[in-house]
Amino acid sequence: MGAVPTHMSSETVQITTNERLEVVDITDQITNAIPTNTTGTITVFVEHTTAAVTVNEGESRLLGDFETALDDLVPDGGWAHDQIDDNADSHVRAMLVGPSVTVPVADGSLQLGTWQSVLLVECDGPRTRQVQIVA
Ligand code: ZN
Repeated sequence: MGAVPTHMSSETVQITTNERLEVVDITDQITNAIPTNTTGTITVFVEHTTAAVTVNEGESRLLGDFETALDDLVPDGGWAHDQIDDNADSHVRAMLVGPSVTVPVADGSLQLGTWQSVLLVECDGPRTRQVQIVA
């Protein structure tokens, strides 16, 4: 018996983004990927250094506001890492938001609050992103 519990499962969802900086509501894709018998918690983990995930309201103007806030908080240029591949702003924005969230689940249903959604924060798109769901 190894360190990984036998009930642990992992699914990967691919999310394609359309903009360089874009917040996408991925709640439905996450829900569809969870086995229906899952109860407990899932970890939603984005396997990238320039994308992030968070939980908040998926209202479209708010998503735009968060894009504006990240853009204002982290200027585009003047970073040391830009000498490597010119995307330090993308990395820093992703680090501020973080790579994962934990969400309670009952019988395959996300136990989110009424106004909560799982949000992918694309910081260097457009790209196709791999989002892991570990139960
Ligand atoms: Zn880079």
